Order: sequence, then structure tokens, then C-alpha cells
Amino acid sequence: MTELLSNYLGGRWQSGTGTGTPLFDPVLGNELVRVDATGLDLAAGFEFAREQGGAALRALNYRERAALLSAALKVLQANRDAYYDIAIANSGTVKTDSAVDIDGGLFTLGTYAKLGDSLGERRFMPDGDMARLGKELLFQSQHVLTPTRGVALFINAFNFPAWGLWEKAAPALLSGVPVIIKPATATAWLTQRMVKDVVDAGIFPPGALSIICGSSAGLMDQLQPFDVVSFTGSAETAAVIRSHPAVVQRSVRVNIEADSLNSALLLPGEAAGSPAFDLLVKEVAREMTVKSGQKCTAIRRVFVPEALYAAAAEAISARLAKTTVGNPRNEAVRMGALVNRSQLAAVREGLAHLAAQAEVLHDGSSHALVDADPAVACCVGPTLLGTRNAAGSDSADRIHDTEVFGPVATLVPYRDTAHALALVRRGQGSLVTSLYGSDTAALSATALELADSHGRVHVISPDVAQLQTGHGNVMPQSLHGGPGRAGGGEELGGVRALNFYHRRSAVQASTAVLAHLQPPTAV
Ligand code: NAP
Repeated sequence: MTELLSNYLGGRWQSGTGTGTPLFDPVLGNELVRVDATGLDLAAGFEFAREQGGAALRALNYRERAALLSAALKVLQANRDAYYDIAIANSGTVKTDSAVDIDGGLFTLGTYAKLGDSLGERRFMPDGDMARLGKELLFQSQHVLTPTRGVALFINAFNFPAWGLWEKAAPALLSGVPVIIKPATATAWLTQRMVKDVVDAGIFPPGALSIICGSSAGLMDQLQPFDVVSFTGSAETAAVIRSHPAVVQRSVRVNIEADSLNSALLLPGEAAGSPAFDLLVKEVAREMTVKSGQKCTAIRRVFVPEALYAAAAEAISARLAKTTVGNPRNEAVRMGALVNRSQLAAVREGLAHLAAQAEVLHDGSSHALVDADPAVACCVGPTLLGTRNAAGSDSADRIHDTEVFGPVATLVPYRDTAHALALVRRGQGSLVTSLYGSDTAALSATALELADSHGRVHVISPDVAQLQTGHGNVMPQSLHGGPGRAGGGEELGGVRALNFYHRRSAVQASTAVLAHLQPPTAV
């Protein structure tokens, strides 16, 4: 039997009492390790984190906690090679795709370490200015943000075992809130290894960082009124989290990052082969294939003027045709595997569902697998679908409703700008849309039009072709999350991320009392 990974809870490493759930190599098919959380005393573990971890973190100021993040970053950097080995084995990703997860996570952690240092030696954050409550200035109101006295439970998705940990843990720990992470079972190994390295280095106080690998059973039941839960995953599981008594009856604060039908839009007035057209083609092909399309932010719907449909179909397909698919250990391979057999089945099923309302412009099954056995490997070539014409775009509803979590996108022709905007909005709220064009006024007007239904609007004009950070790359400085269908959550966005882990309160007092609320060390 393979190694059973330990859980870290209650300030000690503990194994589950069951035989465990196996994790597999999605390319070779062999079992790698097992996870199990059976028999853990969850109530005691959550209490330990809340009481011991929380008190120890809150005793530090932002700058001191930022120093802990920096120390954790150093440990992770020293063990980076091991993380790449785990990613290739357990996620089946090529090196550049593993980097999006691993180095993306480390970059985010480093960004919050710097940001935390700039917050200085305070232990709370003033929120806005004092506001007078009466005729006289003597009695005023000052809003303050103080760290919540609970735990942050993270329930994460399988596609970002490294980044998904640190993009949440960095703002929480910086805020002074202890973290309990429950990674998705399929890829829990990398998360567990990172936590193990940091815990064994003795950086954070006991109880500040815990990990439970295996079943999610009973986790939500532990949550108390001042705890928070941040969930990333499917809309179906999100609905279970939202309706749990902890949220409904105990007012546990919840953040949801769910699935999203993200889009790319080429504005009118751009010719085939123009710089803006080429930038869209390149970005769409990249977004479809990075991490085999298993990115919550990946482009799923591509909107182009009707007259450019054929040219766009041809140009994107030509790029996709060059994508070599198969065993990520082979240097010739550009795109590795989906995470497991059930995701492979889900992608095939979703593709058939969409294809019933679209034509196939580039067929993923035309890609022979490199160095991988199709009967075992969870690999699939990229597929571009299309709705043929603007009338077809109106009648196709599945492309706006069904997220196929793999290398699949649909090209959608539109008549005019109003039509394009209406089609984009049929996604019912997304994490990100990207706009392509060279008319700066039209780009900014369109960005504002779409801002209310997107957490992020990524605008690519030819002048930023080399500088732009990528449609699907989540930068810690910018908001991540989206309204409606995308879950309604908000993460990152620089210092804004800390709000989720703080409670806002208004202190009403004399100006003399409020003067003490000004932090000793100014930012
Ligand atoms: P999932 O099946 O919903 O699982 C997500 C997490 O929830 C896993 O840790 C899972 O544990 C846990 N879980 C399952 N049932 C639960 C329950 N009843 N109570 C509490 N936790 C439960 O999602 P996934 O398949 O891992 O991830 C793919 C989806 O995530 C895609 O739809 C993608 O769009 C979305 N996603 C969104 C973002 C974003 O930031 N918006 C980022 C990444 C992914 P087990 O693994 O042990 O079942």
C-alpha cells in the first residue's frame, strides 16, 4: 500500500484511522499516496486553532506576521523542486503549467508579505475618516477593522493545490486569523507537502496553520459565528455550503468562488490579421491549453464580429493544431492531462452537450497522444466549437450555461456591439472577460459596460501586447471573483483581501478617545 498522508490538526500530525482514498498519476495510472481524515477529533482541532493559533497570531502586529509569511516563502522556495515532482505526477501538468500553480502561489505569498510589511506595527486598521455625529465635533464615529476571533476554513478545488492554498492563507494569516485547509482529494498531496514543509520549519505559532486531507464530512459543522469559510469549486457544492446551518443559522461569513463562463471579445472595426485580431487568437489558444483548460478563469466563449468568424476559426484552429498532447515528462509535449478519469468523462460529456448546438471547428480527437496510452492517460486534445452565425449565437443557450472544465471553447459571432454585450452577459456573471481592440475610447467604454458583471475586465490593446499579464492569470494586486454565476465572491485585490478576515465596527466616542485609535506607527 502507498504512503498514507498525515493531517496536521490540534498542533500535531495525525493519521486517519481508515485505509484511505488513493491519489493517482493521471497519465500513467499508478497509485501515488493515500489520504484519510477518518476518526480525527475535528471539534478539538478547530478549538485549538481558534484559541491557541488565533491568540498567538493576534498578539503580533501586521509587520511581524508579514515576516512569518516571508519566512514561509523562503522554506517553500528551498523545496520548489519537490513541488514540481508532485505536480507532474499527481496533476499531470507540463512544467510551465505547474509553474502557474506553484510559482503563482509563491508570488502571491511574497506579494502579501511585502504588503503586510507596509501596514506597519498596528494591530487593527482604521476604515475611513472620523465622521461627526452631531453639531459639535466633540462626539464622532470612527470605523475600525479588527481581526475576527475565529478560524478560516478553506475548502479548495483540485486544479490549484498550491496557488489555491497561498492566495487564501496569505491574507488570512496576515490578518491574524488561523487557517484550516481542506484541499480537494484528487490533488491533496501538493498542498499537504507545502503545509508540512512550513509546519516542520516551525515558522507559525501552533494552531495557525492546519490541514485536513480526505473527506469533507463534518467540517462545516464545526464552524462558529466568528469563523469564516472560503470555498472554491463547483456550483453544486457551493450550493451545499451556502445552505449549511453554519451559514444560514450561525451567520458564518462565506466566500464562494464557483464556475464561470468567461469570455473574450474582439471589438468591431478590427480586420483579420490586425494586431488586435492576432492578440485575441493567441490568447484564446493559450487560455484553452494552459493546464488543459482546467482554470476557473479560462476563456470559454469567444465573441467576434460576424464577418470575422471564418478567419478567427481558421487562425485559432491553426494554433491549436500545433499543440502536442500527452505525457508531460516528454519535452515535446505542450499540454498534459486532465486530473483524473472522472474529469475526462465529464469533459467528454460536456463537449457532446455543447456540440449539439454548435459545429466543430477544431477537433481535439485529431491529436494523437505523445508517449501516453489513450486507454490509461486522462489526456484530451483541444476542441474549438462555433455557433456558425449571429442567429446561431442567439439560439445556442448551452454555451452560456455549461462550463466544460477542459480544453474547450466556443467561437460566437455577433452583429454589433449591443449584440456582443448582450451575449457576453448571458454568462450571468463571470470571473473575467478580456477585450481586444485598438480604439482606446471604445475599449474603456466597453470595459465599463461589462464591469458590473465581471470581477475583472482585462483589456488587451496592441501597446500592451508584451506587458499584459494574461487573461487567465490572477494577479494578487487585482480582484479575483465574480458576481452571479461565478459565486459572488471576492478574493485578493491587494489590501482588500484582508477585509474578509476582519470585522468592521463603528466606535462612537469623544474626539479625545478616538485619537487613541490612530495607530502608533503610521503607514
Ligand atoms: P468540487 O467537486 O465542488 O470540490 C471542491 C471542494 O469541495 C473539494 O475540496 C471537495 O472535496 C469539497 N467538497 C465536496 N463536497 C463537499 C461537501 N458536501 N461539503 C464540503 N465540501 C465538499 O469542485 P472541483 O471539481 O474540485 O473543482 C472544479 C470546479 O471548481 C470548476 O467548476 C471550477 O470552475 C471551479 N473553480 C473555481 C475557481 C474560482 O476561483 N472561481 C478556481 C478553481 C476552480 P473532495 O475533493 O474531497 O470531494
